[in-house]
Amino acid sequence: MNDFEFNIFHHVKRNSKLEDIVEYHGIKLKREKEYSKGTCPFCKKEGDTFTVSRKKEVFYCFGCHEGGDVITFQAKLKEITQVEAAYELKEIWFELIQKDPGDKQSLEIAKFEVKETIEKLCGLLDMIE
Ligand SMILES: [Zn+2]
Repeated sequence: MNDFEFNIFHHVKRNSKLEDIVEYHGIKLKREKEYSKGTCPFCKKEGDTFTVSRKKEVFYCFGCHEGGDVITFQAKLKEITQVEAAYELKEIWFELIQKDPGDKQSLEIAKFEVKETIEKLCGLLDMIE
């Protein structure tokens, strides 16, 4: 993993809420006090075997015992690598934040991070040329 990929992982883990990502993929969650439950996208067992801990930002299925963080979730769901998953999550995060910025601060952070990412990409391109 290079520095750029490390930064993306860091960014995604800090900003992507697992519940939002799960729901983004069309999985309905019943929100309870500390966690949410729903049908597992991996084993699709009856009953709410799939749980998401809001505090720990991890998921676990009592049916098939799949579990992990937001990056693992995206990677397993799409059958892609963790790095690819991190890139996709970054895209999803931008999409979600543009729809509902929540507060001004998140939007400012988003703008800053886009700028930072573009600058880094340009830096990488300069090195190649
Ligand atoms: Zn399952």
